[in-house]
Amino acid sequence: MSARDPGPVRLEGETDWKNAFSYHAFDVEVARAEGVFIHDTKGRAYIDASGGPMAVNLGHGDARVVDAIKRQLDAFAYVHPTLANRPRADLCDAIASVTPEGFNASYLVSGGSEAVETALKIARQYHVATGAPGKHKIISFRESYHGMTLATMALSGNPGTATIFDPMLPKWPKTQQYSEFRRPSHLSPEEWAADCADELERLVHYEGPSTIAAFIATPHGCGSEYGVVAPAAYWRRVREICTAYDILFIADEVVSGFGRTGAWFAMEHFGVTPDIITMAKGIASCYAPLGAVSVSDRVNKPFEEGTGFIHGFTYGGHPLACAAGVAVINAIKEDRLVEGARRKSERLFAQRERLLAHETVADVRGWGLFMVLELVEDKASRAYFGPNRQAETLFQSIALSNGLALYSTLYGSRRAGVARRGLPMWISPPLTITEDEIDTLLDRLDRTIGEWERALGVGA
Ligand code: PLP
Repeated sequence: MSARDPGPVRLEGETDWKNAFSYHAFDVEVARAEGVFIHDTKGRAYIDASGGPMAVNLGHGDARVVDAIKRQLDAFAYVHPTLANRPRADLCDAIASVTPEGFNASYLVSGGSEAVETALKIARQYHVATGAPGKHKIISFRESYHGMTLATMALSGNPGTATIFDPMLPKWPKTQQYSEFRRPSHLSPEEWAADCADELERLVHYEGPSTIAAFIATPHGCGSEYGVVAPAAYWRRVREICTAYDILFIADEVVSGFGRTGAWFAMEHFGVTPDIITMAKGIASCYAPLGAVSVSDRVNKPFEEGTGFIHGFTYGGHPLACAAGVAVINAIKEDRLVEGARRKSERLFAQRERLLAHETVADVRGWGLFMVLELVEDKASRAYFGPNRQAETLFQSIALSNGLALYSTLYGSRRAGVARRGLPMWISPPLTITEDEIDTLLDRLDRTIGEWERALGVGA
């Protein structure tokens, strides 16, 4: 028995979270979830408007997934990947059925950060195995987000965390992303896209092409440009540069994969094929912790020919997570949710102008069932409220009082100085949402923004 005082016995239904490390939660305790609705212990229902952290692509409580996990649990819950486990093979097949042509091998992990870490190690080992051992740096976007492990934080470049963790992180080079907001008025989006992509080539030149292993990017922008869809010309030029300098192009599709943008993977919209795709979130729609890295046949070749991949996690390819993943992918196919996301997108974005009419909504952008609002204090400069206003927390709690559960972020008020741009607010409900439910979501969102502005004294 521990010498620690166990404290008062907790009554059933009473939770005070005091034993949870660094836990932040709103005062809503979840009892159950079904479809797009989350129900709390007090009988209130909330629309899961961001799909958790842009992750619940299939709605909650889908019997096909629940049954698949139960069936697997009845057979066996776990074996180490050194023993053959059918759900793992089935999941790799299911992934190959939806990834681009020439992507036939996947490595399974438990989430997005692990997927990105795995991709970095695959890239490094690929170059060592193919006779380019000097290639070790990974280029990413300034202000991007690829996870919370140390290596993924080294890619991420979030100014809020840099000062704390910087001494522990590799100093990999960063480039600028495509930004509509910073586009000079005399340039067309395509001309500006070419300029932004050429910046990558200049960086490669100064760093030395023989030192660069990979370039990683999210297809949907990041940080203050979250949800910005760059012209296809941008990604085509990036692809050319990566090919020219033998740099592996990693598309981080942890958020955008599995139908979110109206395609299985967002890079499809641009007609551009990366070398490595990282995925998580929607792959099992949070029914179980799951992530994967899919590689092109070219990247797989040295490993297929015998290069041992120095990697592995106890939970990689966990049978319960794999059973969930297979069932989710099958359900997305069966219910035609990818096509549905394209169709329902029109309903979602039809009310763009209504949202933009608010003084604090500087932009409404995105694609598929992935809409990002940029919330600001001042539309012209796109500056966000200072930290003392607690505007982000206020938005979340007003949204909850209106029956909307929204994902909160690390951006906005925590960014300082030149990076002090608007706060991205994600509207990314489960792809199973109906068109009527989209209208209800938007009504509640509109009301939330209005109440938030009044609480902050905007326009008063
Ligand atoms: N990559 C991207 C683009 C993400 O948005 C995230 C998480 O939000 C991650 C990686 C990390 O995923 P996880 O939180 O599952 O570790």
